[in-house]
Amino acid sequence: MPDFSAFDAYIDAHQERFVQRLADLVAIPSVSAQGGPAMHQAAEAVRDLAASLGLDARLVEVDPGQPPFVLAEIGPADASRTLIIYNHYDVQPPEPLELWDSPPFQLVEREGKLYGRGTADNKGNLTVRLSAIQAYRETLGELPLRILFVIEGEEEMGSPQMARFSQQQAALLKRCDGCWWEAGGVNDKGQSTLTMGLKGLAALEFHAKVMARDSHSAAGGVLPNAIWRLMEALTTLRRPDGTLTIDGLAEHLAPINPRDLELIATSDWDEQGMLEAFGITELLGGRRGKEAEIQFLLRPCMSINGIIGGYTGPGGKTVIPCEATAKTDIRLVPNLTPELVRELVRAHLDRRGFQDIQIRESEMGLRPAKTDPDAPIVHAASQAIQEATGKPAALAPNMAGSGPMYDLCDVHGIPTIAMGVAYRDSRGHAPNENIRLSDFLTGMKIAGRFFHQFAQS
Ligand SMILES: [Zn+2]
Repeated sequence: MPDFSAFDAYIDAHQERFVQRLADLVAIPSVSAQGGPAMHQAAEAVRDLAASLGLDARLVEVDPGQPPFVLAEIGPADASRTLIIYNHYDVQPPEPLELWDSPPFQLVEREGKLYGRGTADNKGNLTVRLSAIQAYRETLGELPLRILFVIEGEEEMGSPQMARFSQQQAALLKRCDGCWWEAGGVNDKGQSTLTMGLKGLAALEFHAKVMARDSHSAAGGVLPNAIWRLMEALTTLRRPDGTLTIDGLAEHLAPINPRDLELIATSDWDEQGMLEAFGITELLGGRRGKEAEIQFLLRPCMSINGIIGGYTGPGGKTVIPCEATAKTDIRLVPNLTPELVRELVRAHLDRRGFQDIQIRESEMGLRPAKTDPDAPIVHAASQAIQEATGKPAALAPNMAGSGPMYDLCDVHGIPTIAMGVAYRDSRGHAPNENIRLSDFLTGMKIAGRFFHQFAQS
């Protein structure tokens, strides 16, 4: 293990420069849902930043006209280990603007926190990782491994180009030994969380058209109603306690890995924090403790995101809508795929006489991904966290969220870990998104040690 004291001192001494780097990225409003010239501008800024730090960086187009990928490589070509670092330069829309205490696309430091859209998700992590490479080379010399950054511009839209990018770059990706994912954070005890997988996502839109036109609701006892019809169909898919009741789904689920249960047994998931954050007194189905954590991290769930139909304007309109749509998402765990879930839901509804309900699959479909908790990359990251922070990593078997990890990594057999610089009050996707400056700097210190540990693994 090299002496990291000069490395740490370099990071502390250059913090203003690193914060400015993040400020420059936050200033570009790269909202992928809204598109526009900022997307290309952000890709170029990231490429130029990587190139200025000595990486061999280029833009890669998959769909012409859509946000390009940034590929950036550095480190000895004959290194025994190659690490993929996955990040994204796009961000979520800043709205509602009136709830921000400072302009979303201007990095503002207040009380040790850095505010701005993208600080936590995901420009902060991107800046941390690139800056750690600079600090390593300035103080410790040549990197001990090869690093390949894959930085996309549509993560917040479900990464529609990722599967094709990954196929096109298969020869390059297959040579890699591990991947460091974009997300992660620090828990209330100051421990960095280390996760080894994420859920997939099937976005399904249900559409009911029950008659040729709307009717006066006086006929509500004899005419069908599209919103009732949708609700009747949807309530067969889930019990009120959140358990999915889709026919055949349970038989497809992979059994929960006993190692994952061991990790859950020793983790300290913040159930109370979740109750407080949402102003509720109990979780769905009255689940508590480890049972709630297993449900949260390791089981599938279904959300109705919104229902479109009927009259919702001011006052009343006594009408029976002939058409209605529900937007939903189902979060997937190992062995479930978006295609399989759609088929199961279709057959489930048909069996109950809901053949008339159309199911439209959105572009957003992601497979779940999972890395063995005993993989060498997990050990390397865990050691790096311990060495940089003096505290053990908080290991969690999975993230409840989703991302294109399967398409980039699992498909090529690449094990993946996630750790990052967010914390409980980071407000990702929400107004006043922020990270703590201390986590930003500690993140770099972890990164340098992780490079070293992974190279040895
Ligand atoms: Zn996000």
